[in-house]
Amino acid sequence: MAHKVTLIPGDGIGPEVTEAAKRCVEATGVSIEWQEAIAGSDAFKSTGELLPQGVIDSIKKNRVALKGPIITPIGEGFRSVNVAIRHALDLYACVRPAKTYQGVKSNYKDIDLVVIRENSEDLYAGIEFEEGITETKELIRTIESLVGKKIRLDSGISIKPISKFASERIVRFAFEYALRHNRKKVTAVHKANIMKFTDGLFLRSAREVAKEYEGKVNFEEAIVDNMSMQLVQKPHNYDVLVLPNLYGDIVSDLCAGLVGGLGIAPGANIGNDIAVFEAVHGSAPKYKGLNKVNPTAMILSAVLMLDYLKEEKAALRLEKAVKEVIASGIDVTYDLKASPNDPQAVGTREMADAIIKRIKSI
Ligand code: NAD
Repeated sequence: MAHKVTLIPGDGIGPEVTEAAKRCVEATGVSIEWQEAIAGSDAFKSTGELLPQGVIDSIKKNRVALKGPIITPIGEGFRSVNVAIRHALDLYACVRPAKTYQGVKSNYKDIDLVVIRENSEDLYAGIEFEEGITETKELIRTIESLVGKKIRLDSGISIKPISKFASERIVRFAFEYALRHNRKKVTAVHKANIMKFTDGLFLRSAREVAKEYEGKVNFEEAIVDNMSMQLVQKPHNYDVLVLPNLYGDIVSDLCAGLVGGLGIAPGANIGNDIAVFEAVHGSAPKYKGLNKVNPTAMILSAVLMLDYLKEEKAALRLEKAVKEVIASGIDVTYDLKASPNDPQAVGTREMADAIIKRIKSI
């Protein structure tokens, strides 16, 4: 039976890279019934909304989506559509693998890490108090009277909620991911030495959950500043990293940098029985419609989607095809060439064509 998948082309380079990924998925022979849903600037032009309810309804119905990047217009009143989708569907786990592929410029070899970031709380909960307004001043006075510490009255305040529920849920997700993908170690990353009641709770929850996996997956703890240095010096010492939202955001970009950058960094946002797959990069508006950018990040996001759909063989074949095309260094986009001005660089569509040709021989 065909899998049903919502396809959101998105903005800027989104339609080009999602089209490339869709064609690659189809070339694996896996049967997919795509349901296109429009969000972002095209949706805004026709409906006045960046994220029409129909898009959320379609993902809820199909339970799986492949999504292109969507712009967040700069200005008052626009919430990120990407964050809104994650919140509306409670996609609490952000999964970002960072792997080196031969042929991609990087200072490292053989890196194979997975960053699992908590997506629903922490400083991204959106609970903020603006400097100078009455509510903020009241909050400052209340905090001062409760804890007896001074806060400057001209401060802005962002709230960092971290719950036992969400911490246990993300750490359990990380261990289950490790088991399913035959990974050996989960490292919980925190700053519990300073933030005892938030990161401390995250760490205590991680230790509790880790006990359930003793003998199956190793567990380790690391303080986020030290972790950043360790990742640069000895990235091969790590396997699966699990982090609260803010550290997860920063460390996943650090890991993308270790393996060669945005053009090849895939991602998944996963909740209970529902998932949205998207590249880490944005809509790169200056390249819109030029058939120029690298489709790899989006195609590797589709590899994660195939794996999630339990089409593991197709996922492996597609990833192998991507690997081989990149390693050959011939049919690749400008960013994968030794010089970005190399006239031999191919376009988005042509790189996808080369991957499709390769899949058929695997
Ligand atoms: P961006 O990722 O769109 O682009 C930054 C630069 O990275 C590009 O100019 C390009 O040089 C390079 N790049 C990105 N993708 C590439 C690819 N596939 N191949 C080759 N090079 C690539 O980041 P930005 O310019 O900060 O953001 C543009 C818009 O995208 C903003 O409106 C932002 O809100 C949005 N955005 C959306 C998402 C999402 O939908 N998940 C994520 C990030 C940014």
